[in-house]
Amino acid sequence: MEKRTIAILGATGSIGTQALDIVSRYPDRFDAVCLTAHASSEKLFELVRRFRPRCAALNVEPAALPEDVRFCEWFFGPDATVRALLASKAQDALCAIVGIAGLDAVWAALDVCQRVLLANKEALVTGGDLVMRKAAGKGIPLLPVDSEHSAIFQCLQARQGNPVKRLLLTASGGALRTWEKAAMYDATVRDVLKHPTWCMGGKITVDCASMVNKGLEIIEAHHLFDMPAEQIDVVIHPQSVIHSMIEFEDGAVLAQMGMPDMRGPIGYAMGWPERLPYDAKPVNFYELGHLDFAAPDYDRFPALKMAIEALKVGGSMPVILNGANEAAVGAFLREQIPFGRIPEIIGHALEHVPVTAITSIPDVYAADAAARADAENTIRRLAC
Ligand code: NAD
Ligand code: MG
Repeated sequence: MEKRTIAILGATGSIGTQALDIVSRYPDRFDAVCLTAHASSEKLFELVRRFRPRCAALNVEPAALPEDVRFCEWFFGPDATVRALLASKAQDALCAIVGIAGLDAVWAALDVCQRVLLANKEALVTGGDLVMRKAAGKGIPLLPVDSEHSAIFQCLQARQGNPVKRLLLTASGGALRTWEKAAMYDATVRDVLKHPTWCMGGKITVDCASMVNKGLEIIEAHHLFDMPAEQIDVVIHPQSVIHSMIEFEDGAVLAQMGMPDMRGPIGYAMGWPERLPYDAKPVNFYELGHLDFAAPDYDRFPALKMAIEALKVGGSMPVILNGANEAAVGAFLREQIPFGRIPEIIGHALEHVPVTAITSIPDVYAADAAARADAENTIRRLAC
């Protein structure tokens, strides 16, 4: 593989820093030419000192720029990520911003990059049809970084033209997997952020506990692999060793396994089609002894069902689900609402925000704004 230039968008986050771990292991293969973050300036300065990119960006302008990071071109403000990406002329972009806030970056990466490595699932949940059409039209590979989608992508390489009957997305079940329904309602931020198998950013960890994350991933899988909702199933698998599976017409199931470590799927997308060894812990089946599976419980995790329904309805429904969830998760993390209100807030938005057709990116933002307004209203009402 020749040396490639890569932009890490959301460089200070959980995915961003693990991607930079792969970059540091393969200095002959990757040059991180663009690093961006929202507000965590000190963290970004450290990364800039270490990886010496051409361009860097912060949405929130810091009070001062240290002398030793001034060698690169800096961008500040709400569209700083996109401006830095364009200026960097990176061949590849790893889109690892959290939330719909990353959609513009994915869109811009499809204009200027040769490959887009996608961790930012909300960009597909909200702009999925538009993003997939643009990538296909330009012939740009959209390489999944989400572990389940990377697993399916890896399994699909063995498909040899055979039709796939079903995608089976595995789910750890999140921090509250074994909790009683009544206790879940008042789970604290501390309870929810204790993920059993993965160490991730705050928003996705909350989404795992509500299982909204798995709902978002069903929508993501629908777009990436062109599968209807009816052919995507969720399997609860607490050990997170099987990252996902595909089933063929003859009943054969292929699974991709590995110990839970996001550097696996991140490295696979970065090196694709080559595999890049890192210090992965090997799967030790003797030590594991058994792997467990269960059906999802829609009674305790109603938002998962809502996401499946939103995908089936289509149009702006998935955007509404995502927008209401982002608002609700923000309020939960600020301790303004109990955990159990998250699905209620999403449910209210899905019921009350009018469904529209999505034919452009501005349509996505309009639906997102309407969903957030509805969610914020519900949150205010609850706070009174
Ligand atoms: P994180 O919160 O740890 O990091 C987010 C990054 O995006 C940070 O660098 C932050 O500065 C930047 N950012 C946040 N808001 C921004 C904004 N408005 N504009 C520009 N930049 C912004 O999040 P994460 O856990 O790394 O997740 C990133 C994405 O990857 C999410 O979409 C998540 O669902 C997906 N993902 C994460 C994991 C994981 O293991 N963390 C696994 C699968 C998928
Ligand atoms: Mg995932």
